[in-house]
Amino acid sequence: MATTTHNLPNPRASEGVWSTLFSSHTFEPVLARAKGIHLYDEEGNEYIDASGGPIAVNLGHGDPRIAETVAKQMEQYSYCHPVMSNRSRAELCEKLADRLPPNLNTTYLVCGGSEAVETAIKVARQYHVARGNSQKYKIISNYDSYHGMTLATMSLSGNPGTQRHFEPMLQKWPKVHQYSPTRKPSGMSEPDWALACAAELDEAIHYAGSQSVAAYIATPVGSGSDYGVVAPPEYWMAVREVCDKHDVLFIDDEVVTGFGRTGKWFAIEHHGIEADIMTLGKGISSLYAPMGAVAVSDKVNEPFEQGVAFVHGFTNAGHPIGCAISSRVVDIIEEDGLVRNAAEIGNYLQEQSAKVRSHQTVREIRGVGLLRVAEMVKNKETLGFFARDTNAETKLQAIALKNGLAFYATLYGSRRGPSKNRGLPLFISPPICITREEVDELLRRLDQTLTDWENDLGVIQI
Ligand code: PLP
Repeated sequence: MATTTHNLPNPRASEGVWSTLFSSHTFEPVLARAKGIHLYDEEGNEYIDASGGPIAVNLGHGDPRIAETVAKQMEQYSYCHPVMSNRSRAELCEKLADRLPPNLNTTYLVCGGSEAVETAIKVARQYHVARGNSQKYKIISNYDSYHGMTLATMSLSGNPGTQRHFEPMLQKWPKVHQYSPTRKPSGMSEPDWALACAAELDEAIHYAGSQSVAAYIATPVGSGSDYGVVAPPEYWMAVREVCDKHDVLFIDDEVVTGFGRTGKWFAIEHHGIEADIMTLGKGISSLYAPMGAVAVSDKVNEPFEQGVAFVHGFTNAGHPIGCAISSRVVDIIEEDGLVRNAAEIGNYLQEQSAKVRSHQTVREIRGVGLLRVAEMVKNKETLGFFARDTNAETKLQAIALKNGLAFYATLYGSRRGPSKNRGLPLFISPPICITREEVDELLRRLDQTLTDWENDLGVIQI
């Protein structure tokens, strides 16, 4: 448990302004080691990794089985020249095909989530060109979504705050709202609203010109201010139908949600539909190595199988060490029953979170499996988030650290505008090996963190 403050000289001066990457945060403690769900700094303080790094550390930290795998792979070979095949890559792709939904049997390996999304866009484009539809190139995505930080993936991400810096360099592709329960008109049924949300995609494709739209990309458990929202099945069925109607590929971005995080191997399994392309990252290696992948359906892979050259390739793509690690991660998820654990412990966390939910600043806790999101608001009556000059977001993370919790910054929220009546998502997404006792301790520390934070911000308790 953290007991001291951290006044170390900044050991990262040579690293550039690291602390402003992703968002403003206060990662002052210097990490010394990590084990299971815990991080330890150089002063001996212990923290629960409450968001699993950036919603990515699915296995516990410091798993000796991974260290053993790395050593073994390195003894054999650490890199494979592109002119050669290698078992490390072949085994991983085979394992992925076994675990992925049955229509996704081919995987292109890359080095991270943004690369996976870039790759997916290129697969979609080349698929249409190969079929004689070379006018199809637009990729529709959701407002407020996040798909990465390269220029193409920023074009998809629906955050004008980050986009404005690169405006002339980004593609102006259409955006639609993803399903959101808070936008439902009163009196309308859930299923009718789900269909109305999917109809917005239909309309966007129509007005963009369906002959020009290559794909629609979405995250399967909400996006932006609605991260963690599980849409009704009618929504996803209708989205699938709209895509099929217009010959638009559906890209399911599972960079966050894959590999057991939501209590299923992949979150799309909650929705009963198939994706044409699925992007993978984060949990694929549980961040023991930089990895990413793009799984494509048999239909989408057909032109490539028939000889169309995929114009792509990165020096580090399918790196043997990353492949060996990811293969072992997949095995461990299975051996340790982590998918079931995420489902069961996720429900337990939700049940036990009443005290946290009763805080003035917690609008709700939602989600599925161990992808839980606390929507943080100014108060439950007025909603919205605290004004920027209160530094509430940064303070929340700093106070959490003092209470022994490391949280990931709330990168995915609307950041106030234009959804003034929405809060910021705080990710409660620890490693999916977490036990009930550890969840109790996480919630106890979170309750204390919120009490301290509310006192600091002068929140009047009702
Ligand atoms: N897609 C989604 C849904 C993500 O949340 C992220 C990162 O958080 C990415 C893509 C980009 O992944 P990376 O940061 O590994 O490039």
